Formats: sequence, structure tokens, C-alpha cells
Amino acid sequence: MAVFNHPEFDNHEQVVFCSDRESGLQAIIAIHSTALGPACGGCRMWDYVSDEDALIDVLRLSRGMTYKNAMAGLPLGGGKAVIIGDAKTIKSEALFRKFGQYVHSLSGRYISAEDVNITTADISMVNQETPYVAGLEGKSGNPGPFTAIGTYRGIKAAAKHKFGSDDLSGRTVAVQGLGSVGFYLCEHLHKEGVKLIVSDINPVAVDRAVSQFGATAVGLNDIYAVECDVYAPCALGATINDDTLPQFKCAIIAGCANNQLKEARHGELLRQKGILYAPDYVINAGGIINVSMEIRPEGYDEAQSTKQVLAIYDTLLTVFARAAETGQPTNVVADLMAQEIIARGKK
Ligand code: NAD
Repeated sequence: MAVFNHPEFDNHEQVVFCSDRESGLQAIIAIHSTALGPACGGCRMWDYVSDEDALIDVLRLSRGMTYKNAMAGLPLGGGKAVIIGDAKTIKSEALFRKFGQYVHSLSGRYISAEDVNITTADISMVNQETPYVAGLEGKSGNPGPFTAIGTYRGIKAAAKHKFGSDDLSGRTVAVQGLGSVGFYLCEHLHKEGVKLIVSDINPVAVDRAVSQFGATAVGLNDIYAVECDVYAPCALGATINDDTLPQFKCAIIAGCANNQLKEARHGELLRQKGILYAPDYVINAGGIINVSMEIRPEGYDEAQSTKQVLAIYDTLLTVFARAAETGQPTNVVADLMAQEIIARGKK
């Protein structure tokens, strides 16, 4: 398995392979950049088909964190960790403590937090071995609701750019994935009078959205082709791809999932189709903004955090305006803006 020559390797500063037979830990920590500060990004647990898939995920996700943190105006670099294995069976205190020892060995160059399949309780166990964690219970806690507020504001910014008004009442939004972000997002949208179309592999989550928000449920593969104003991917990455692109009937794609474009070229294809795309790492930064408040010397402040999350609206308007001026796809514009911020940070 290549690392330095891997197509997803982007001059990452450090890639750490962690293994412990006794606890069963197999993990990879990737530090993409510390140009703006310590590398901060969550830890994901996933039953990867191969070690290579885990490497690809951590290389991509850590790079994404560098760009996300830069665009959110945070004094943080980009990093991420993946723990390989089935979250239903491998979790133990020994495993999380061993992971914590690996994080600690990096002396603060990487700060960990929750991501998919990792709870605040899991991070507390990591915290027993290292202070270099965030998202702890009693401090910033679950980032999901903050990511949801940021995503909601991002949808409004996209509506403002596309329709000339950010009023969403009467609009239709198709939400894919009703987990810790998607469900709260539905709540915000429902309060504003949005008609919701939803899908989830978990029928309990679907039933809850139908009964609480009057949402219309559709099949897992039907969500891409529904008539709607906004498609909000809030489950998986890569749902904007060669198969789904011809199906979309939305005007906007704006959701919280990471790595929504299967390949960067799909951003250009969306532009050609006239679909406004809110770059994923800009719109979904609410969680990391909230988590970052816990790390700063002044300590956690929910009001300050919320203020910064709401500013995602303005950041996205800037991305959309620059894309419209230059004729470039929004994902390319966001990357350029992030690279400019990182270059200024390096100076
Ligand atoms: P979650 O695991 O709580 O929720 C994901 C939901 O998607 C679950 O309800 C799951 O059943 C559903 N799902 C899985 N496969 C599906 C499919 N094929 N079709 C429809 N639904 C499906 O995760 P989350 O924390 O809500 O995060 C959602 C996405 O947002 C992820 O991509 C995550 O990386 C990203 N994200 C989350 C945060 C955060 O603060 N939690 C921050 C930034 C980005």
C-alpha cells in the first residue's frame, strides 16, 4: 500500500499507523497541516473493507479539515483519525485509552474529537490518557446541533443567492440522513415552514420525521430524483456522482455530509446544470467551530460559538459571489479561498 505516492496523499505532514494487539486497536492518524495551528479533527470508527480504504478516508478527511478550519476562520490546522473496525463490537475502554496514548504521543500536534460512530462517552475515555481532545460532555458536547444550525444558515445563504430571498417558507428540501445533524436540521427547516422529503436506512428515524415534521418519506435511492428546491445530503459522502447527477431536479445542493462530490469534476458538472452547490466543508463547519471554543485559552462560550456558526451564512455568500464573478464552480472557489488563508497563515 503506497503512502507518499498515494493519489490522495497531499503533502500531509505526518501519517501515524497505530496498532495494539491486546485492545484490538488499529487506527490511522493523519496530520495534513499545522500551518494555522494544531491539527484538529474528529475520530471516525468504521468497518473499512481494506486498510487502503481507511488510508484513503483519513488522507481525504484530514485535508478537508485543513480547508474547513481555514474557511471557518479558526486558528487550527487539519487532521483526522480513523479507527478500523465494527463500532457495534470493537469498542472498549482499553481500545480508547490506547488510542489516547497515541494521540498524546503527538504532543498536541493533533487534537481529536467525535466523528461518525464516536460518542462523547468514547472521547471521555480517550481523555483519560491525553488532554488533546475536544467535544467533551459538560464542555462543548455533541457538535451535531451546531453543525445543524450552520447547515440551516448555509441553506438560507444559498437560497438568498439563488432565489434573491433567504425566506424558506413554502420551499421543499429533501434531507438524506436523519442522524445527529439531519434531524436537528429538519427541526429548523420545519419551524420555518419548509416541506420536507426524507430518507434514512433507519425506519425509526424516518417515522420520527414523518410524525414530528409531517415529512414525506421516500426510498433510499429515490431521494436524488425528487422535485425539490434543495437537496441536503446529511448521511454519506460521494452522493454527487455520475449516477445521481442526471437525476437531480433541485436548484441547490446544501447539506452537512463530508466529501459530497465523488470527484472534484462533479462540482463543474453541477455548475453546468445550473445547480448551486454549497461546498461541504464550508457549510458543515458548525461542529468544529463549537468544538474549537473548548480549546481556546478563554474556554468554552456558547454565545460566541453560536455567533461564529451563524457567520457561515456570510462566508458562503462570498464563495457564491466569487464563483458567479469568475465562472468557476463553488468547490474550486472555496479551495482557492482556503489556500489563500493558509498561505497567509504560513507567512
Ligand atoms: P449520524 O451517523 O448521526 O447520522 C447519519 C444518518 O444517515 C443515520 O441516521 C443513518 O441511518 C443515515 N444513513 C446512512 N446511510 C444512509 C443512506 N444510504 N441513505 C439515507 N440515510 C442513510 O451522522 P451525523 O453526525 O448526523 O453526520 C452526518 C454527516 O455529516 C456525515 O457525513 C458526517 O461526516 C457529516 N458531518 C457531521 C458533523 C457533526 O457535527 N456530527 C460535522 C460535520 C460533518
